[in-house]
Amino acid sequence: MRFEDLAIIEPILRAVKEEGYTEPTLIQEKAIPVILNRHDVLGSAQTGTGKTAAFAIPILQHLYNRQHENNKTRKIKALVITPTRELAIQIGESFSVYGRYTGIRNTVIFGGVKQASQTASIRNGIDVLVATPGRLLDLMDQGYVRLHDIEYFVLDEADRMLDMGFIHDIRKIIAKLPLKRQSLFFSATMPGNIVDLSKKILLNPQKIEATPKATTAETVQQYLYYTNKATKKDLLNHILNDSALTQVLLFSKTKHGADKITKHLKSRNISAAAIHGDKGQNQRQKVLLQFKEGHIRVLVATDIAARGIDIDKLKYVINYDIPNISETYVHRIGRAGRAGEEGVSISICEPEENGYVRDIEKLISQKIEVVKNNPFPQTEKPMTSAEKTIWEKEKLIRKKEQFAARNQRLGRTKSFRYK
Ligand code: AMP
Repeated sequence: MRFEDLAIIEPILRAVKEEGYTEPTLIQEKAIPVILNRHDVLGSAQTGTGKTAAFAIPILQHLYNRQHENNKTRKIKALVITPTRELAIQIGESFSVYGRYTGIRNTVIFGGVKQASQTASIRNGIDVLVATPGRLLDLMDQGYVRLHDIEYFVLDEADRMLDMGFIHDIRKIIAKLPLKRQSLFFSATMPGNIVDLSKKILLNPQKIEATPKATTAETVQQYLYYTNKATKKDLLNHILNDSALTQVLLFSKTKHGADKITKHLKSRNISAAAIHGDKGQNQRQKVLLQFKEGHIRVLVATDIAARGIDIDKLKYVINYDIPNISETYVHRIGRAGRAGEEGVSISICEPEENGYVRDIEKLISQKIEVVKNNPFPQTEKPMTSAEKTIWEKEKLIRKKEQFAARNQRLGRTKSFRYK
């Protein structure tokens, strides 16, 4: 299939060609005609499948075809809601790139930065608004944004949106949308609560699936190292001794863990930086740019921060821990081997995570290849639940002692509260 076969107009075709896209991805092939035919869409697709172009191209086309209806003042006619700043920025960039020759204008709004430049560009007139939920509501409350004229509404990464606690914000936004509109709803996973939410937004939607459960496995070679908790760092050093790993996205479950790993890598003269929610927006953008340009070898990210990262041809993903939610693993390794490129994922598993590997293998219906050449193999057994309870109790006691000692040092008398 070619882009020409999808009835895309010339100015957009030209932009797509200039991007170097030779053929549409599966989700684009399925979604573009449906959206051009003005149907609502319930799409199962994750980042990395080409989903953004799948909705941006037909929306741009609708808007372009109706440009003559534009009166003097531009109104916001399309709204895209997405959970993270990085995703919002990337979606905005996609609209700008694919819409380069259409004259359609977009802007992106997200929290964590001053609002002045965002409100200024809204005031100048835009057709498409890409937003994270909190800042959108904020600017709506202040009277900068009105949703009265929205005709195209996209809810992107709905499952992540709910994970991040945005459900109330989303409800408030939906309540302000005109009833007559075309709505597109995308989620990587479709558990019951997501389907319920989609029913409140969509009207007779067409279901489109491009879940890369199988494709992920096809385009990403997955490897697994079993090791002990205490030897994870040594094993990471061993893995990074391979100079072929020039640009690596490394996942850490926690922000604290991400900072620790980054410090460790830097201490070994490996250029690394952490990207997570505690870092300011400017800092995150700067780090991302340095990583994209090859100045940073290892980008250490938490799942939420990484969700919006889009790096063309990212080859290596390292899972420094195994996520307890199997879908998260699929999301993580989906960052490598994007849009048909070959990628490699390397997972490091400590005994407590062995069970998670089994769950993941069930989900992806395949065994992950265990690396035999492993200088730090797993020798310990996972704890039994009784051992775990004792370990947790001992950890609590240790924390109490540390807390008491610190208080004593500081001359405080506060009692211990464990969160
Ligand atoms: P997305 O799933 O929207 O985050 O897109 C993933 C990546 O695939 C982005 O870097 C896009 O630029 C790229 N991409 C989207 N569509 C195509 C295509 N048809 N051919 C090649 N690359 C594409």
